Amino acid sequence: MNALEVKNLKVIFPTEMGVVRAVEGIDIEIEQGKCAAIVGESGCGKSVTSLAVMKLLSTPPAVVRVDKLVLGGTDIRDLTDKQMQKVRGKDVAMVFQDALTALNPVMQVGKQIDEIFLAHDMSERAVGENGRKLNRKKEAKRRTLEALKLVGISDAETRYKAYPHQLSGGMRQRVLIAMAFACNPNLIIADEPTTALDVTIQAQVLDVLKELQKKRNTSLMLITHDLSIVMHMADEIYVMYCGKIVERAKTRDLFKDPLHPYTMGLLGSIARIDDERGRFVQIPSSLPSPINKPSGCYFHPRCQYATEKCKEQMPPLETPENGRCVRCWNYKEIKDGKRG
Ligand code: SF4
Repeated sequence: MNALEVKNLKVIFPTEMGVVRAVEGIDIEIEQGKCAAIVGESGCGKSVTSLAVMKLLSTPPAVVRVDKLVLGGTDIRDLTDKQMQKVRGKDVAMVFQDALTALNPVMQVGKQIDEIFLAHDMSERAVGENGRKLNRKKEAKRRTLEALKLVGISDAETRYKAYPHQLSGGMRQRVLIAMAFACNPNLIIADEPTTALDVTIQAQVLDVLKELQKKRNTSLMLITHDLSIVMHMADEIYVMYCGKIVERAKTRDLFKDPLHPYTMGLLGSIARIDDERGRFVQIPSSLPSPINKPSGCYFHPRCQYATEKCKEQMPPLETPENGRCVRCWNYKEIKDGKRG
């Protein structure tokens, strides 16, 4: 079963400067227990996609259209805000990039996790195994301490009483992970979960995330601009550019044999242990303005393989082999070395 199915998701923001087409008809499927990464530069639409899946985009200003938005078998398109409050945390949860912003600065972190258990998961557990009524607050605290230990926070009793600013960045991120896993949701969306951390702490936090995801058979949607962190995390990768999916592939296939020139550029800009190039490759220029996207293939002003056709016509998302998808007029010639 799929934990998430999204079909033809479109998000636009009408602004005074013009219409921003942030997401232009994308499809995503994540199998239960698998990790899919959405990768692309800042501003490509990946975070907007995650917020749309969580139904966290306020309408207006955002205009969201989607043909299918199914979470763990339930169509959530028409759920009200109140109904969605029950879904968030219990069926789908989010790990945000900036823990200092995501956490309440004037509340002990332990109490913040307690609140999730009290809001979602305590009613059916209000009676203990021996049939006696449990003290809800005590039971919530017990489970919070368990959750803190699970994400590798030592001295959980002391940390429970800490305020966010008293914890290190890595520890705060672990608290967010504990909160996301608290009610055992089907799907966790992690939006740049380690961007604000040092590289060594990043690796530790990713390990915690991966270990829990595997142990709980949770599905993970990992949003990142950094392809190097998804290499050991994701089963499948969606590469986004200017609001469109330009390539989708199993992680191993994508790293071994990228088909889209943008993916090649992203891979060229990361360091790999098996790399013999001795230098990094840069994608020239930067992402175009979302209000004024180029004609034809959005990537053509930055693409060394661009042809006249690329400047005029948007390529379709083709499915060449192995469930892979690629949006490029010339991917076959590029692959065969007949271009460039
Ligand atoms: Fe480059 Fe053309 Fe392919 Fe776009 S369609 S990525 S411009 S070769």
